[in-house]
Amino acid sequence: MAKKKGSRGGKDKGRRGPQRRSGLARQRGVHKAGRARLGDLSRYDEDAPALEDLAASEHNSDSGENVLRRFNRVARTQASAEGAPGTIAGCEGLFYIVRNADGEELSCQIRRVLKKMLTGVKSPLAVGDRVRYCHSPEGDAVITALELRANQIARADSHNKALEHVMAANVDRLVIVAAVLQPELKPGLIDRYLLIAHYNDVEPVVVLNKCDLAAADQTATRYRALGYAVHCTQAVPDHPSVKALRAELAGRTCIFTGQSGVGKSSLINALYPSLDLRVGAVSEALQKGRHTTTTARSHPVPGGGALIDTPGIRECGISGMAPLDVALLYPDIAAHHHACRFTNCLHLHEPDCAVKAAVETGAIDVERYLSYCSIVEEDLADGR
Ligand code: GDP
Ligand code: ZN
Repeated sequence: MAKKKGSRGGKDKGRRGPQRRSGLARQRGVHKAGRARLGDLSRYDEDAPALEDLAASEHNSDSGENVLRRFNRVARTQASAEGAPGTIAGCEGLFYIVRNADGEELSCQIRRVLKKMLTGVKSPLAVGDRVRYCHSPEGDAVITALELRANQIARADSHNKALEHVMAANVDRLVIVAAVLQPELKPGLIDRYLLIAHYNDVEPVVVLNKCDLAAADQTATRYRALGYAVHCTQAVPDHPSVKALRAELAGRTCIFTGQSGVGKSSLINALYPSLDLRVGAVSEALQKGRHTTTTARSHPVPGGGALIDTPGIRECGISGMAPLDVALLYPDIAAHHHACRFTNCLHLHEPDCAVKAAVETGAIDVERYLSYCSIVEEDLADGR
């Protein structure tokens, strides 16, 4: 995921011009109300030569720097930029939908030099990115600056492995939904999503849904003992379990993920009835489409915070991780790592392994250890 190489500058050069303008002209009338500041865009071009130099050096230095670090380095060059603040809520063709402080959404282009500096990703900006935008004298809305990203959820592009696809940025919670029954609870799947959350530096919340069908105590206890927030829910509006989850997520930007049929859409509708989202249905439809789309969309939720609907998390996978990453991102396993004889111990067949000893004594849950082994020995078998 993060360690992809390859800069491919100028791919979309041929696509500029009249089409783009007409698109903007179309949007302009719609979004006049969202105009926060009329400015002379040339002001923002004063630093263009320096930025162009930096952009050129980006193309030449294919350092393999991870996308998050590169994004934040580019964002730092914009320290003095002016403009109205907004958040990327979606992407439509060549335009970004920016939601401003008043909750209005407007269609923006990204300043060309910024785009050039952010090659190597499928799309330079991701849903959740905080930006600043201005209006040119013609009234076009242009993203002129980026704010630092706290985190991102990314994976290699399915068509071009050298490209990284950042599906969302500045995510506060990855809500991992599993059902206690129908479909059968698979703790190994929860562990895989936990791994994706840790790898991308996003805090996870475990939701065990359909608690009206069976008790979830054992699973809930196991994940609570590991320090995770766990909610046992029934996807019914105003159910106490739904209220508790709503309170946990209030004011945060969240992504829901989990197997199909576990009740993600039902839960989201119970949490936020006014949203009237067909989240799962939309995502499934997109995933099954011929041209698998990973278009994410952010929806503001009542009481603050946002829900990012993205079909891409399941494809995120863990295939890009090194086995040692996995060992260190299982907090319960990592806690014993220091006591193993080998510093690069993978806790499989090595002698004097403190992790295996802890599994024997019950200090590490055996199911967690087995899901770890299956990831390292099966999911990552090719990379070893
Ligand atoms: P998604 O694919 O994860 O979005 O799942 P859906 O929200 O479409 O739900 C799948 C099925 O599970 C539907 O028939 C729902 O009515 C049902 N379902 C969802 N939540 C619950 C729940 O808490 N209890 C029970 N018994 N059924 C539920
Ligand atoms: Zn070990």
